[in-house]
Amino acid sequence: MIGGIMTTEFRTRIPDLMMASGPCSVYPQVLAAMGQQMVHHRTDNFVELMLSVSADLSKLFKTNGRVLPIEGESILGLEMAAYNLVEPGDVCVNLASGYYGAGYAKVLRAYGGDVVDVAVPYNTSVPIDQVRGALDRHPDAKVLAFVHSETPSASENPMEAICRECHERGVLTIVDSVSGVGGSDVRFDEWGVDVCVTGTQKCLGSTPGMSLVALSGRAWERAEAVTARTGRYERSYLSFLPWRQWVERDYVPYTPPISSIYGLKAALDIIMDEGGIDASIARHERAARATRAGVRAMGLELWVDDDANMANSVTAVTVPDGIDDRKLRGIMDDEYGLHISGGLGDEAGRLIRIGHMGYTASRQKVVTALGVLGSALAELGHPVDVTAGLEAALEA
Ligand SMILES: *Cc1c(COP(=O)(O)O)cnc(C)c1O
Repeated sequence: MIGGIMTTEFRTRIPDLMMASGPCSVYPQVLAAMGQQMVHHRTDNFVELMLSVSADLSKLFKTNGRVLPIEGESILGLEMAAYNLVEPGDVCVNLASGYYGAGYAKVLRAYGGDVVDVAVPYNTSVPIDQVRGALDRHPDAKVLAFVHSETPSASENPMEAICRECHERGVLTIVDSVSGVGGSDVRFDEWGVDVCVTGTQKCLGSTPGMSLVALSGRAWERAEAVTARTGRYERSYLSFLPWRQWVERDYVPYTPPISSIYGLKAALDIIMDEGGIDASIARHERAARATRAGVRAMGLELWVDDDANMANSVTAVTVPDGIDDRKLRGIMDDEYGLHISGGLGDEAGRLIRIGHMGYTASRQKVVTALGVLGSALAELGHPVDVTAGLEAALEA
């Protein structure tokens, strides 16, 4: 390596296998693709690559429209949604079902949104009736924002029901599906979704650093109207409007992150080769099922209240009484080279999270994680039935 920070010590601490809440270890094909030399982004060669990525992304989101491949981690795409769709005084219903959902209220407010929070405990999802109730009480709502898959607590909201309900009422939806798309079904056109944001580093199995944003016709119209009415800078990096050039005439507005596009294409190729988006979703469902079955059979508890409310991309396990989760994860890291996540905020110390997304959504990786978790718990004086766990996972 070049020296400096990439010392031997740094490199030996890169986990053998990262099954965190994202990013996770990526496909080896992604790493190889990202090591390729640059092509110029104004050449036919590169535009062809972008068009092919674009066609794959439309399949992923199940939309006939073009998904915007934006440089900048997913948080950028989520902020763009508020910048373009929300103007001062707009009533915005925000589903606070976890760390990201609750946090989005601040983004909506930053652009003048009059936020109505619909809160539930962070170990469950928002029932559709609660969404309907909030919309009934706020018939003037312009926008409803929610997180499809709440990665910090491993719960999943009923995206189809929520989006269909909002579409019928003319309320625009902003959906954070950063850890959803690729692992859970998203039918952008059929469900009448308006803005849906995903990232490259979760269920797609590539590296962090891009926002993939799908927009409906209504969202484009609103973006134009809000920009005109508020006088917001239409060439801002936060504005969707420069991306019209990409949608209408294959012209990317800025220099794209070429290496990230290489990696994304390699990841999309893997999804297409395995049978397409539905095969990818089925693989994530199997990995989630196997993880849950394994955790339960080992005698541990799942954090989320009901299987129907659990995410496909990550599983949260309640930390057993008397166990220090940092010690537990430390053993997993140091002795087995396997990195998983702890809880965030109020959940810190109360749960651990095993990510099974993208490259790590495989039975091989799930069985490895369960075995390592069981061994680390035994080392801390909390023996669990690892054999039963592995058997249950393999049968699930
Ligand atoms: C990972 C994640 C994000 C943040 O994505 P970045 O690419 O890190 O900005 C936002 N929301 C959810 C639900 C996530 O899982």
